[in-house]
Amino acid sequence: MLVRSYLCGRWSDAGGERLPLLNPATEEVVAEVSGGGVDPGSCLDYARNHGGPALRAMSFAERGRLIAAVAARIYEHRDELIEIAIRNGGNTRSDAKFDIDGATATLSAYAKFGESLGSERVLADGDLIQLGRSTRFSGAHIRVPLTGAAVHINAFNFPAWGFAEKAAVALLAGMPVVTKAATSSSLLAFRIIEILAEAHTLPDGVLSFIAGGVGDLLDHLSSQDVVAFTGSSETARRIRGHGNVINRSIRLNVEADSLNAAVLAPDATEGSETFELFLREVARDITQKAGQKCTAIRRILVPSGMLDRVKLELSERLRGIRVGDPAAADVRMGPLATAAQQRDVREGIELLKSEAELVCGDAGRGDVALTGVAEGRGFFQIPVLLCAPDPERASAIHSHEVFGPVVTVMPYGGDPFQAAGLVCRGDGGLVSSVYTDDKDFAVRYVLAIAPFHGRINIGGEKVAEQSPGPGTVMPQLVHGGPGRAGGGEELGGLRGLAFYTQRTAIQGYGPLIEKLVRAGTQ
Ligand code: NAP
Repeated sequence: MLVRSYLCGRWSDAGGERLPLLNPATEEVVAEVSGGGVDPGSCLDYARNHGGPALRAMSFAERGRLIAAVAARIYEHRDELIEIAIRNGGNTRSDAKFDIDGATATLSAYAKFGESLGSERVLADGDLIQLGRSTRFSGAHIRVPLTGAAVHINAFNFPAWGFAEKAAVALLAGMPVVTKAATSSSLLAFRIIEILAEAHTLPDGVLSFIAGGVGDLLDHLSSQDVVAFTGSSETARRIRGHGNVINRSIRLNVEADSLNAAVLAPDATEGSETFELFLREVARDITQKAGQKCTAIRRILVPSGMLDRVKLELSERLRGIRVGDPAAADVRMGPLATAAQQRDVREGIELLKSEAELVCGDAGRGDVALTGVAEGRGFFQIPVLLCAPDPERASAIHSHEVFGPVVTVMPYGGDPFQAAGLVCRGDGGLVSSVYTDDKDFAVRYVLAIAPFHGRINIGGEKVAEQSPGPGTVMPQLVHGGPGRAGGGEELGGLRGLAFYTQRTAIQGYGPLIEKLVRAGTQ
């Protein structure tokens, strides 16, 4: 297969250098990427001039129906897409479903939000405000879609969900999308775009796809365009510092690294349902997608008296995970996505080992027999549990994200504020979890860490049956976090539309202001 760009309403393959896409379990080439022939300026113009007007002419309900159609197409091709995620992403079947069904669920949620807004085209932001002696002089705030293109740059780990969670929000807001998948795992995103294009699911210019690098795209952005980026802090810094992005005040949303922490409260003692939930969710989070999840738990804090028990229980669970080629039915954890990713993870483990001792696993494959893997092949890393006995003195544990199946457990004295102080040394996170049924502990802990986090997951016996855990990003809730996590915010139901719309204050004759607020429905 050849992964090509879809620009200006047609497939683009201008030849030039082709990059191989690998199966990370076997290192076999599964496709090639044609990164040539991209003219970002024309692509952005096409989206602005064709896709934008088509979307803005629609009501929210009509855009919602388009989004529902995108979800339906992905669902129709679910089995084929799962196979691609296994081959090009190193995903187990369960990992692949997490990505692809996550995409469908998020699109479906936004389709419903659109339906609920009905025939409107303008979002009212609050009520009419009396500004003068009477309502004759009034004001209001409205939200209208920007007239540029929404550029989406995605990380390698969620080619389907990453595309869908950004596209769903932009499309509902009324902005056309130019999406760029991370090159190494782009086969899945490419196939989704191909499916949508073949079925003419979206109006011309509403969706474009860039294969390979973005070239000089950032130079062509105008002040009505936006960029939503997911990936490493390093790339985020480069985009943030780009001259055109600075000079034209281009709106930029960044979803970056995060040292997500899970805290076990003293009341969640051995044998309790909450303790079991904690172990289950931590073990799943470390190994799902081989730990290559922005929301994965990297640090665990447990009361000192529980440390040995937790080390024992977790290491038993991690040793029991069958690692190997995800195409094999009984494999529960596949390889890392690329050789570079494997190198980074190994180096990261060595760094953490300077502050923490190994409890189980080590950098590399260890002496674990990998299922269905040829000798020396694949980018594998077995699950690793480390223990840092003195978390107050640790530094790298709180600041270096190892983007793989690696977690560090640490003791604390059982005080919620002490736990909060340690967790906040992550300097801004996407999600943090606390496992407790003690309401006082929960309230103190949650309010202390809230300024440093985009989302907080409270696990306990009352929700053990229903909660999907911290790793599942819910479209109804915001995703993002301050500081190290990038300072961005996505999703959150209709809150997500803020990024793609301009909030405009209007003031004047009250009845006219009211008419303007309702303009979209007429
Ligand atoms: P990355 O290397 O920063 O790449 C992310 C994306 O940026 C890719 O599509 C990449 O394209 C593109 N890119 C690279 N250089 C660029 C440039 N100069 N201008 C514009 N785009 C550029 O990150 P990654 O390795 O794919 O992802 C892993 C990181 O993402 C981890 O640190 C993880 O924490 C973070 N992440 C965060 C979230 C979140 O929601 N907060 C979610 C997932 C991952 P190429 O692939 O073509 O280089």
